Amino acid sequence: MNDQLSRRDFLKCAAVSIAALAGSGLMAGCGMGADMTEKWDEEANIVFTNGKIYTVNKKNPFAEAVAIKDGKFMEVGSARDIEKFVGQQTRIVDLGGAFAVPGFIDSHIHPAQPYLHEEGGALLFPESFNKDQIAEAFAAYLKKNPNVPYVIGEKWGFGLFPNGRANKKWLDSLVSDRPALLRDEGRHGAVANTAMLKLAGITKDTPQPKYGFIEKDPQTGEPTGYLAETAMQTVFSKIPMYPDEVWERALKRVMQKLTAWGVTAYTDASANAPQFRVYRKMEDEGSLNFHISGSIPMNDWAKDRVVDPEPLVAMAGEYRSPLFDPIGRKWWGDGTPLSKTSLMVAEYADGGHGTMTTDQIDFDRMIEEAKKGGLVMVHAMGDGTVRTLLDVFEQIRKLNPESISQSHHLAHCSFLRDEDIPRFCRLNVVAEFSPLQYYRGPLTSLAEEAVGAESMKYFANLKQTIDSGAHVAIGSDWPTGAMDANPLRMLQVLVTRKNPYEKNNDKPLGDPIRLEDAIRVMTLGGAYSMRKEKELGSIEKGKAADMVVLDQNLFEIDPDSIIDSRIVYTIFTGKIVYDANMSK
Ligand SMILES: [Zn+2]
Repeated sequence: MNDQLSRRDFLKCAAVSIAALAGSGLMAGCGMGADMTEKWDEEANIVFTNGKIYTVNKKNPFAEAVAIKDGKFMEVGSARDIEKFVGQQTRIVDLGGAFAVPGFIDSHIHPAQPYLHEEGGALLFPESFNKDQIAEAFAAYLKKNPNVPYVIGEKWGFGLFPNGRANKKWLDSLVSDRPALLRDEGRHGAVANTAMLKLAGITKDTPQPKYGFIEKDPQTGEPTGYLAETAMQTVFSKIPMYPDEVWERALKRVMQKLTAWGVTAYTDASANAPQFRVYRKMEDEGSLNFHISGSIPMNDWAKDRVVDPEPLVAMAGEYRSPLFDPIGRKWWGDGTPLSKTSLMVAEYADGGHGTMTTDQIDFDRMIEEAKKGGLVMVHAMGDGTVRTLLDVFEQIRKLNPESISQSHHLAHCSFLRDEDIPRFCRLNVVAEFSPLQYYRGPLTSLAEEAVGAESMKYFANLKQTIDSGAHVAIGSDWPTGAMDANPLRMLQVLVTRKNPYEKNNDKPLGDPIRLEDAIRVMTLGGAYSMRKEKELGSIEKGKAADMVVLDQNLFEIDPDSIIDSRIVYTIFTGKIVYDANMSK
């Protein structure tokens, strides 16, 4: 059999060709199956038996037991099938009929961010605080940290200031003897005090940055202190970032949560030098319990003290290891339709098509990185942005048709036109979706207000994308786009399209998908987006033994209560890394 050909056949249309190939004997060579020829020593390290294991392997969707050796599944089948691998040293875990699925894969997360500033000692207060409460929090913070050279904090509510923009006068009244910067609740804007503007060298003569905004007083031309998007980066590039210990503590807090939620792999959508070092250290210590795909921020404006793409790209190969693969190159192709920093095919409700935050210089670099084998990952919310980037991928494939087996990744795809959907499959671009926003709520109302009813028809076009045979992956985008990264919450939204934070009788927003599809895109789909579908993502012989055991069979419960299920075990490469009974 010609391996190359069948792989290509498979790539022509994922889901569609899986069905066609199943049972034809082509599966092993087509990219989805694991290597069946590997020889196993007969005795398993551990077996899990008496379970209802949903494998996400279409040939063999349910199994009763698995045998694991050296971190990989050596057999998946009935209790009898695995009996022969049980030896004197084998640990046997009786699942008591419990339900299991492959370890969940979060295809888009910023894992240091949820706790970085807290661990780094920043000033944090909730967006619900009024000005008096912020002043109090500020005073308490300065009393507790009298020697901090500068104050970084967040997050003030838009409602506190005219046009949602705070100014330096207000911040100077809270602290004037040292630089300070406070971000707003959307984290796309911030206010700097006079001392911080001085430190960053922002004056009335500073030109407006590309893709950013320095607000200036219309009378005097002086900066008001309000900075948006890339203008904030000017400040961050001037202050020293946290030491590695802070990054490590922040990452470990998130990892502990992810493990308890059943996540065994993720794509770090903004991998930087401190994270590279922490992953390496943890892997050396044997404490890294995830398969991680790292994506290096590439936009010129995203540069700061920790993110300079050039040295990172240069050392990526050196950092590649069994658990960490910094193969990704990440661009923010646009911002968000809420601030019209996304390009839309139709006009926004108040006119104009919006903008992108990348241009031909970035597109050329994407093409160059793809040529070198890099996995191009681009944040794209607007349907116009998606279309423009698909044109770039079109060029990548045209320049190098051989590269078709190397997938790329469009993140969010919040708005997606029908005519662009078939291009994902054809160009082997993974469509990643962020379901934690796909329900009727304040955010989708704001989106509709901004983009208008016509564009809203193309919001979260997930079902159609799956039906097209494209590879689909799911990301939480925690903490940017979500309050947590619990995969059960994402599963629930995928199959209900209703608010997963409260019990409700909402009408679904858009088309729910089938549970089996939802589980697949959150496991095998994620593995594909990491280019690791041969090693991860399903419970199959030869693949990494990553599995999650739940207290309820997700196929038998009310979809509205998926979030109430409990993780019993998280198993990573055959090790139980979370045990509900131990953590009570
Ligand atoms: Zn993100």
